[in-house]
Amino acid sequence: MSSCTGGGRFCAACPTTRPDVSRFGKLAASLGGVLAPQTCPACGERGEADVLCDACRDSAVPLGEPACGVCRLPGRFPGEEPRCEACLAGRGFRSACAAALFDEPLKSWVARLKYRGERTLAPALGHLARGAFERFCDVAAYDLVVPVPLSPGRYRERGFNQSFLLASAIATPHGLPVVSMLRRIRETAPQVGLESGAREENVAGAFAVDPEHGEPIGLTVLLVDDVLTTGATVDACARVLMGAGAAAVDVVTLARTT
Ligand SMILES: [Zn+2]
Ligand SMILES: [Zn+2]
Repeated sequence: MSSCTGGGRFCAACPTTRPDVSRFGKLAASLGGVLAPQTCPACGERGEADVLCDACRDSAVPLGEPACGVCRLPGRFPGEEPRCEACLAGRGFRSACAAALFDEPLKSWVARLKYRGERTLAPALGHLARGAFERFCDVAAYDLVVPVPLSPGRYRERGFNQSFLLASAIATPHGLPVVSMLRRIRETAPQVGLESGAREENVAGAFAVDPEHGEPIGLTVLLVDDVLTTGATVDACARVLMGAGAAAVDVVTLARTT
């Protein structure tokens, strides 16, 4: 204390004479929480931090009925158990559902999350995806939630896996564990712009169960991805999980194309 160079004020060596910044900071933060309006992470209008405001939620276009009994692709398909062409050909997953059509403005929100790193959107988009899970799935039937993985290269570039963030928002309120059990064992070209057959080829053999994160033997798995287009990616993931002993794999995505 005797060697103080700060005149007794704000000197790092003189804690007793420094203002109590931590207490002041906490007070300011708690006042801020009360005074500053929370905003919708999508539009910035007044709302709640982790959910879309009513206007944004209403702008997400739900998928219509009737629909394929397996993947919920809207359309009138023949038979008592209606199946779209792709589902008639066989799927690795038991069922798939999505919260909304992959259209504007949801498309832009997904781009902001994935390509502009706006992670504040993840809980709100996850909340939207959770709506589909709770509507279409028997929520008590699952043992764990598995996100579709990114390649290690893309993960390094992005710093997060959007499917993991969505999976967490779906799983946490239901007390389900999120397990990154799958990994990409080879780089794949982006699926965007590829035709259906090329998409299947692109992801064939691209995934494997990572035994470090456990195995799905006898477990009912909820597989989560951001967008379903032809379903080739989730199909390849589901086949790997089923091949590793999963009892069943259902898919929830935030959005899907038609
Ligand atoms: Zn909004
Ligand atoms: Zn289908």
